[in-house]
Amino acid sequence: FRQSRRSDIGSIIRVSFEFFPPKTEVMEERLWETVTRLAPLNPEFVSVTYGAGGTTRERTARTIKRILTETDVNAAAHLTCVDATKEEVDTVVREFAAMGVKRFVALRGDPAGGVGAHYKPTPGGYENGAELVAGLKAFADFDISVSAYPEKHPESPDFATDIDMLKRKVDNGATRAITQFFFENDLYERYVEKVRRAGIYIPILPGILPIHNFTQVTNFCSKAGTHIPAWLAERFDGLDNDPQTHALVSSAVAAEQVLDLVERGIQDFHFYTMNRADLPFAICHLIGVRPGSSDTVDASLAGAAA
Ligand code: FAD
Repeated sequence: FRQSRRSDIGSIIRVSFEFFPPKTEVMEERLWETVTRLAPLNPEFVSVTYGAGGTTRERTARTIKRILTETDVNAAAHLTCVDATKEEVDTVVREFAAMGVKRFVALRGDPAGGVGAHYKPTPGGYENGAELVAGLKAFADFDISVSAYPEKHPESPDFATDIDMLKRKVDNGATRAITQFFFENDLYERYVEKVRRAGIYIPILPGILPIHNFTQVTNFCSKAGTHIPAWLAERFDGLDNDPQTHALVSSAVAAEQVLDLVERGIQDFHFYTMNRADLPFAICHLIGVRPGSSDTVDASLAGAAA
C-alpha cells in the first residue's frame, strides 16, 4: 500500500457493522465476542438482519435488545415487508419501538423460495421498500436506512427504474442508503454519480463484505447480482484447501478495496461482518478507526478525505 496514506484520517471516518441473529447458543457467544470487540470502535450504529417473512423476528428482537441494554452502541433493526400484511409489520414496529429501537433498515425482502422466486406484493401489505419507509415514518421520526444497488437490483429492468425506487425511498424519509456488496470500486463510484444526477443527496454507504469463504461468496454473488471480477477469482484460485493463505488474501483484498475508497474520498463504511470481528477490526485499524478514536475528532482533518 502507498506509504502516503494517512492513518490519522480515521478520526473523520465513520463505520457501521451488520450482524445476523444467531441460531444457537454457540453462535450467540461468538456474536457477542464480535460485538464486544467492535463496540469500542464507536460505530455510528450496528444493525441486525431480519428474515424475510418474519422468520427471525424473535431472534432479531433478542439480539437488538441485548445490544441496546449491554452496550452504548446505536442499534438498527432490519425489517422486511415481503409476505406480511401492514398490520403484521406494524405490530413488529411497535414491539421494536417499545424496546427503544429508533433506527431501522427498511427492506422489501425476497419472497419465500429465494431470490429467483417471483415477487408478488401481499394484499394489504407494504408493496416495496419505499412504502415501508413511509409506513415507518408515519409511526415516528425514525432514522431509516435503505438498500442501494451499484450493479442494480436483479429484478430491475434498468438503472433508471432502480434509482427511481431509491428516490422514492428518499422522498418518503430515508436518511441513508447502504449498498449491496460489490468488489469493483469503479462500479460504486459510477453508481453514486448516477444517483447524484438523479437529485439524491443522502449518504450512500459502501457495503463491504470481507471474503471469509470465496466459494460461499460466489454463491451470494449470483443471487445478489454482484459481479465477480476475473482478477478477484484469480486471487482465490487454488485456495479452497489452504485456509491460511485464503485468510491472508482476504485481508489484503478487503484492505485494498477500503483503502482505495478512502483515497476516493469515502468517509462512511458499512461492514457485512458475518458475525466475525477479525477482518472488520483489522481494516478499521488500517484506516485509523481505533478504540475510542471517534472521541478525538480533529476538525483540521476534515478536508483530508474530501
Ligand atoms: P426495493 O427497494 O423495494 O426494490 C429493489 C429493486 O427492485 C428496486 O430498485 C426496483 O427497481 C426493483 N423492483 C421492486 N419491485 C419491483 C417490481 N414490482 N417490478 C420491477 N422491479 C421492481 N433481506 C432480508 O431478507 N433481510 C435483511 O435484513 C436484509 N438486509 C439487507 C441490507 C442491505 C443493506 C441490502 C442491500 C439488502 C438487504 N436484504 C435483506 C436483501 C433485500 O431484501 C433484497 O435485495 C430484496 O430483493 C430487495 O429488497 P429492497 O428493500 O432492496 O427492495
